[in-house]
Amino acid sequence: MTHDAKMTYRIGLLPGDGIGKDVITEARKVVETAASSFGFSVEWREFPYGAEHYLNTGEILPDEALEEMQQCCALLQGAIGDPRVPPGVLERGILLKTRFYFDQYVNLRPALTYPNVPTPLKRGEGIDIVVVRENTEDLYVGLGFLSNEEIEATVDMKRPSYTLKGALSLKVDPSMKFAAQLALATEMGVRRITRYACNLARRRKASEIVLATKSNAVKELYGLWEEIAKEETSKEGISLKLVNVDALCYQLARDPSGYGVILCPNLFGDIVSDLLAGLTGGLGLSPSANIGDGLSMFEPVHGSAPDIAGTGRANPLAAILSASLMLEHLTQVEASEAVKNAVLEYLRAFPRQRHPMELGGEATTSEVGDSVASIIQRM
Ligand code: ATP
Repeated sequence: MTHDAKMTYRIGLLPGDGIGKDVITEARKVVETAASSFGFSVEWREFPYGAEHYLNTGEILPDEALEEMQQCCALLQGAIGDPRVPPGVLERGILLKTRFYFDQYVNLRPALTYPNVPTPLKRGEGIDIVVVRENTEDLYVGLGFLSNEEIEATVDMKRPSYTLKGALSLKVDPSMKFAAQLALATEMGVRRITRYACNLARRRKASEIVLATKSNAVKELYGLWEEIAKEETSKEGISLKLVNVDALCYQLARDPSGYGVILCPNLFGDIVSDLLAGLTGGLGLSPSANIGDGLSMFEPVHGSAPDIAGTGRANPLAAILSASLMLEHLTQVEASEAVKNAVLEYLRAFPRQRHPMELGGEATTSEVGDSVASIIQRM
């Protein structure tokens, strides 16, 4: 085991709501264990934002908090959401706000099969896929319009890397209620995410990436994706395979072996990565990262699961695996590998009874964290 020069990382913690608090406690425990094994230290800065804070104070996420987060090396988040808060308020006010403010243009969703975790596939062994989802454009730019007769709207969207301004005038004849939603792809947006996917492919010693597309039906939007992705991959010396997203889902559900890095526009990435989560370990084992050139944020894919909050039933492995992605991003590669390998070893070697309740075991949330930490200590 090698020890880097002693580094201290300030990590912003957003435990959030429900089981977010439960699983983040365990991710923190595991990161601290890895830090002491690999010779670095962590200074935690906890932020209270989430449904509970909003219901108590009316505050969602103030701009000063974003400025303070800027002082951190990374953010580790639990989950945000509560049935008492109308859908969309916290998603837009916290998650999308952070994503756009820090221009976190990559949503990384690894999908891996784990020992002793059943998959619905007959040939489900050995899935090791990473979905690289574009995280700032497509149908998620928030330019939606709904009207009873006509839409007259001005668009004034500011992003760290560009602005989009203009006007929209639409009418349906005969008059009826209708909605329109703008999906956006920019040359810069597609280039930078394609470059990220190429770099990731190189790190994984792969020579090809797959692009999930649909330009036969959505010509301009995904046609631009194909054009720019072709240019970038050929510059990067990586080959590009274009697959229609519907055909891709069909193939993944039948036989996902052979897939590695899958590059997706925002909406397709959302769907394909959930499909892969279902085909591998499920919600309690699915980590994610929102990565930008500035501050990046790491979080389990699952929500706040208020039904089991505080009961010890939450599986913290997705949060722990998200912390492993965070350590890799902080260039603590050995520590990151150790955390991931400890999760694999725990699932392989510990008796079923000591596995998380979500996976049919009897271990509480903190017992799972203790087991993973104990493996890292022994490495
Ligand atoms: P959101 O909309 O915020 O994603 P959701 O209600 O759709 O949330 P989750 O909160 O992710 O979905 O979870 C759905 C159900 O799955 C939960 O009610 C819970 O029973 C189970 N679940 C989710 N995550 C975990 C976990 N880490 N450990 C155990 N069970 C979990």
